[in-house]
Amino acid sequence: MLPAEIPDGRALASRIEAELRAEVDTFASLFNSRPRLVVVLVGDVAASGSYVKGKAAAAARVGIDSEVVAVPGTATTAELVDLVRAIAAGEKGRADGILVQLPLPPQVDAAAVLDAVPPDRDVDGFHPENAGLLAQGRPRFVPCTAAGVQRILIDAGVEAAGRHAVIVGRSDIVGKPLAALLGAKPPRALAPGQRTCCDATVTLCHSRSANLAALTRQADILVAAVGRPNLITAEMVKPGATVIDVGINRVAGRLVGDVDFESVREVAGKLTPVPGGVGPLTVAMLLANTLLAAELGTRS
Ligand code: NDP
Repeated sequence: MLPAEIPDGRALASRIEAELRAEVDTFASLFNSRPRLVVVLVGDVAASGSYVKGKAAAAARVGIDSEVVAVPGTATTAELVDLVRAIAAGEKGRADGILVQLPLPPQVDAAAVLDAVPPDRDVDGFHPENAGLLAQGRPRFVPCTAAGVQRILIDAGVEAAGRHAVIVGRSDIVGKPLAALLGAKPPRALAPGQRTCCDATVTLCHSRSANLAALTRQADILVAAVGRPNLITAEMVKPGATVIDVGINRVAGRLVGDVDFESVREVAGKLTPVPGGVGPLTVAMLLANTLLAAELGTRS
């Protein structure tokens, strides 16, 4: 069997950025202002700081303005809720999109802070209103990583209809929204050239799933979103399956995913790499959501 095709997430993200750049320029010429993203960064977790820098740099590449509001790691829930409300009220300038970088320090009630983001500026798609719309099959802001995984599948020409998608990991930010996307009915009307990837039969696995390997071996599309290096090995993969590795783990100073890349590439039909797979798409989807937020704000 031939080794797996390796979809290039960086190349796809730069194609999406080029399309967004043109759309942002059109928006700016129509409304005489650029979409603007405000990011709240709490404390000095090194990984969070570098993710935020990456997001700001990507925003600049497509012409979206951004500002990072950094606060000490000792901030309380009440202080952060007040800050998010102040940003929404315009105290840090126009904020079409508001993002609170996770994780938040342990003393903070993350749900309370995320709920303070107005749902029509919730570019991460974490607000219960946006989660509810997605669950009902009428998505508005879709969590960026889940949207990015669907985009990779579409770009790689993977057909999901009638296939079995097994997602390992049931978090609110990756597993659950992805299950909703892949298991959804297709949109009633597709724009010309628009492609979709849905209508799958979805199994959502987690830490209490019995006999994980028996489940993953049934997958035509297997997504690993757990945070455990090498959890998915070749014996757990059906020959020819599409395997999407969402995991980001640091092992001996190197980034690796949740999939044992070297063994699984001999079995899978397609396998996304880490780094350079889902990660760049997550950022591209954030930019798309920020443009959408600006468009929704302008219309209301
Ligand atoms: P969470 O910790 O919120 O969720 C992990 C999920 O994995 C949980 O549902 C948990 O089950 C499940 N799980 C844990 N251990 C096992 C196991 N042994 N077998 C089966 N399931 C298990 O993680 P996130 O969803 O936030 O992130 C997952 C990974 O994706 C991380 O590595 C993260 O860094 C990465 N990530 C990557 C992004 C990207 O852009 N590429 C963006 C976001 C995340 P249970 O619910 O029972 O606890």
